[in-house]
Amino acid sequence: MYASRIDLLSRRSLLRRLRTIDGAPRAEVKIDGRRILLFSSNNYLDLATHPKVIEAATAAIRRYGVGAGASRLISGTLAPHVELEEQLAAFKGAEAALVFSTGYHANLGLIQTLAEDASTIYADRLSHASLIDACRSCKPPLRIFRHREASQLRALLASKYQKAAVILTDGVFSMDGDLAPLPALLSVAESTSAQLVVDDAHGTGVMGPEGRGTAEHFGLKSAALIQMGTLSKALGAFGGFVTGTRDLITYLVNRARPFIYTTALPPAMAAAASAALEIIQGEPERRARLWFLRERLDQGLKTMGYGTLGSESPIMPILVGDVAAALRLSDHLLAQGIYAPAIRPPTVPSSSSRIRITVTAGHTSGHIDHLLEALSMLRGTDRQLWDRLTNPTRIARREGRKRSSPSL
Ligand code: PMP
Repeated sequence: MYASRIDLLSRRSLLRRLRTIDGAPRAEVKIDGRRILLFSSNNYLDLATHPKVIEAATAAIRRYGVGAGASRLISGTLAPHVELEEQLAAFKGAEAALVFSTGYHANLGLIQTLAEDASTIYADRLSHASLIDACRSCKPPLRIFRHREASQLRALLASKYQKAAVILTDGVFSMDGDLAPLPALLSVAESTSAQLVVDDAHGTGVMGPEGRGTAEHFGLKSAALIQMGTLSKALGAFGGFVTGTRDLITYLVNRARPFIYTTALPPAMAAAASAALEIIQGEPERRARLWFLRERLDQGLKTMGYGTLGSESPIMPILVGDVAAALRLSDHLLAQGIYAPAIRPPTVPSSSSRIRITVTAGHTSGHIDHLLEALSMLRGTDRQLWDRLTNPTRIARREGRKRSSPSL
């Protein structure tokens, strides 16, 4: 049964395979024995291998062991969890924080809990899969609003005004790299007494003058804002978290099943994330470097005429459209020593397949230039692909129609 399905996926260029990376998720890795530039990791600040982060994790393992041994409410809450939660709350300017085993669990637990009292859940069409999966596990109906269109959300809420709506959005959209219009969404939430949840998995540590996230980028401070994040991207560790009011956090501890019924995050990961948070606040030059490199790539891509879907973050998609063409581009890049896999359905809508490039503080200007050279080579080696990539408006128009579709 599975063989024929696998064959079908393969014929549609949709079969995915696991690729083994040899080495830490740094800018340079080895794949199949070859030295390759990694342009697909979310290790934005290059903290996964920072000596202080490694030392904090190692010291915690020596002191607390490898596994937490129980769920948080039984005996799994250890000092590193509590310290991290205090730090995260302060970092995000919230009353309190709660650490989950992963960001996926955090979204699941948070949304399921908010859904207890919600009439309807509204989500941006390009919200992360973990938010959508969370909604699918809840009773209140899910309504999708067009990508970044706060005005449509306002109209939806006005026409079907119901008490206690929940609004969901990514802060930085994980596959497009663009930003949610948080001030407008917050204004809709405040005027309708809805709760706004921002999944800031890709904004935390990256966005805002001090790296506090997309809310800081927009200068927002609001008690109405519930933020979720992950420890596994800019913080270089593993795990997820929610910040909000103390009451919300206390209620989550009592109600969020993905928090209650799973073993606590390994204490070494909490300790590593704490060390990473300190570095983020103590070494702003890391973020400055990340943004310098990101701007260099952005400029280079724009000069060649490549489209990046309005990215405003270190996530830089190169829209290809067709699945097979996206694979061709990632194969070309790999041949040039660059790893940036094709992103295909179901992760992105069909006809908007792409290469998702992520820049990190661990890259160098030389790495960025090598990537740009590899992309500019296409002009001579694959004219068809070059024309497609440097005429993004055509693909974008199709993508625009697709994006406005009301279903996910
Ligand atoms: N939200 C977004 C926007 C993400 O990109 C991810 C990870 N891909 C998650 C949530 C889940 O986080 P984690 O990897 O910690 O489970």
